[in-house]
Amino acid sequence: MLGYWKGQPVMVMDVVAETMPMRARISLRQAMFMVDEKLQALAGRAAQVLSWDRDHRYCSRCATPLQPMPHERARTCPACQLAFYPRINPCIIVLVTRGDAMLLAQGVRFIQPFFSCLAGFIEAGESAEEALHREVFEEVGLRVSELQYFRSQPWPFPHSLMLGYHATYLSGELRPDPAEIVEARWFEPDAPMVLPPAGSLARALIDAHLLRVRYNGTRG
Ligand SMILES: [Zn+2]
Repeated sequence: MLGYWKGQPVMVMDVVAETMPMRARISLRQAMFMVDEKLQALAGRAAQVLSWDRDHRYCSRCATPLQPMPHERARTCPACQLAFYPRINPCIIVLVTRGDAMLLAQGVRFIQPFFSCLAGFIEAGESAEEALHREVFEEVGLRVSELQYFRSQPWPFPHSLMLGYHATYLSGELRPDPAEIVEARWFEPDAPMVLPPAGSLARALIDAHLLRVRYNGTRG
C-alpha cells in the first residue's frame, strides 16, 4: 500500500515485463515528467519500495532472513533485532545567480545535452548547507552566499531526496571540474538555453528565478 490517488488506495506490484502490453509500458524517468507532483511522488515511492524490497532480504549484520515489521514499512532481523528502513540519499541542488544571470552546467552524466543547476550528494556528518558550499566549490570553483532554501523533491534514481536552494555568487573564477562538468556558463535570463524538463526541481528553481527577474527585478 503506497497511498491514495483520487480517493482510491494505490498498491505496487512487480510484474514480468513480457506480460504487459507494449503500449501500457513506460519508463519511470519518462513518467516523472508527464504527470503532476502527486502522481510523481506515488510513482517514485513505488519504484523505491520495490527496489528496497528486492535488495533487503537478509540481515546485513548476521545474514538471517528478514521479517516485515508490523505497522511500519521496515524489516527486522529475528536473530539480532537490527531494523532496516527504505534508504533515502539526500542531495542538494542549487541555482547560483549573479545579478540576473544564472550559473548552469552540463554534467558528464547527463543523458540529454541540457544545462541545469549544480547538484551533489550530502556526505555523512555534513549539513545540507556545508554540502552545497563544498559541491559548488568542487564542481566549478566558486564561493557562494545568501543560501535560500526553496523546496525538496523525492527523486527515485535510485533513492534521492533533492533539497533545492538558491544561492548568490560571492567570489572566484569559473573553473569546472572536467570529471563532473562538460561545460558551465553564466546565462542571462533572455539567453537561448536548453533547460531541464518541466517537473524537475532544477527547472522549478530556474523558473522561480526567471519569474522573479521578470516581475520584481534582480533578487535581493
Ligand atoms: Zn541480524
